[in-house]
Amino acid sequence: MNALAATSRNFRQASRLLALDSKLEKSLLIPFREIKVECTIPRDDGTMASYVGFRVQHDNARGPMKGGIRYHPEVDPDEVNALAQLMTWKTAVADIPYGGAKGGIGCSPGELSTSELERLTRVFTQKIHDLIGTHTDVPAPDMGTNSQTMAWILDEYSKFHGHSPAIVTGKPIDLGGSLGRDAATGRGVVFGAEALLAEHGKSISGLSFVIQGFGNVGSWAAQILHEKGGKIIAIGDVTGAIENPDGIDIPALMNHKNGGGVLKDFKGANAMDMKELLVHECDVLIPCALGGVLHRENAADVKAKYIIEAANHPTDPEADEILSKKGVVILPDIYANAGGVIVSYFEWVQNIQGFMWGEDKVNMELQRYMTGAFKNIKSMCKTHDCNLRMGAFTLGVNRVARATLLRGWEA
Ligand code: GLU
Repeated sequence: MNALAATSRNFRQASRLLALDSKLEKSLLIPFREIKVECTIPRDDGTMASYVGFRVQHDNARGPMKGGIRYHPEVDPDEVNALAQLMTWKTAVADIPYGGAKGGIGCSPGELSTSELERLTRVFTQKIHDLIGTHTDVPAPDMGTNSQTMAWILDEYSKFHGHSPAIVTGKPIDLGGSLGRDAATGRGVVFGAEALLAEHGKSISGLSFVIQGFGNVGSWAAQILHEKGGKIIAIGDVTGAIENPDGIDIPALMNHKNGGGVLKDFKGANAMDMKELLVHECDVLIPCALGGVLHRENAADVKAKYIIEAANHPTDPEADEILSKKGVVILPDIYANAGGVIVSYFEWVQNIQGFMWGEDKVNMELQRYMTGAFKNIKSMCKTHDCNLRMGAFTLGVNRVARATLLRGWEA
């Protein structure tokens, strides 16, 4: 099922549980604004290349719209629309004063040089600068983008609007970025996992983990889980997958990665079939890469008891049904990966206050938001007699619906 259909289906199910008015339901689903722009740049060899950039601003009832910008070949209008909608529910679940948005450019960032990426980012910013803003829509990094991308957006935007550090989050620290932002999504995934496991009388220490994706989110989640005594028995990314039943030495793997090594060449583990990764025997499975990786064909073979959705929409609705029948507990994306946008909120607050927080404060506040949101989700699960995904969706959708009604739905 395509990402937009899957996300909208979850939304409609939550809307039914909340008995929302059908007109309000329709209005919440339709994006506030969809932007599509052509971005043409000269390649390094002098030839011209054109790309399509998107920004979908989904909802602003609770505050400025917020969400990442993704550079990936699979970026298309439906995908960006679904991801923007997920941001609206995610910021509401986390109870931070934002709406939701998402953007992206259909491109293969690995095939572009740094100066080509800079030109592309600057052209994209020129095309959307008058539609984003510190109090309207605040971009951040996502797949294929990073703090350098945010620095270029900040610089280009500031040429039109004057120095505006709060226009993007996930910036380099030297330009007003927050301590702890780089690790925030991975750290939030671990706080979420701890909250869930505690409910089941378990802790990270001694449990076995499989991680799909070894980019920003996967590598930070792996490091923090390892520090807390978790045993990472398999990891995979686009270059391949590795396993070690005794637990992979994550600090050694990070040295290998930081030295430019790919997973399959790491000496402390055995290469494994990529397809086997998601169905590998383990206690906890953490998909940290693309959406739709758990589907009708592989869900029945999943052996994990818990799935922590660090990626956005990794579980197709059909897989969701199969997994829940098997008794697998799923911590849903709009809660599990909210750590990134929560610390983005702290970064924005610090920029507006003009005061920088220490890293301990950032991490402590992140934990407070993550544990608070988990309690609120559990309470919605009780009220509506539903699973964690619907607990999170009803929590998020209800908050956005309430804000919409308070702002004057009838007028
Ligand atoms: N791209 C991240 C997400 O999907 C972070 C968004 C943000 O910080 O605004 O949640």
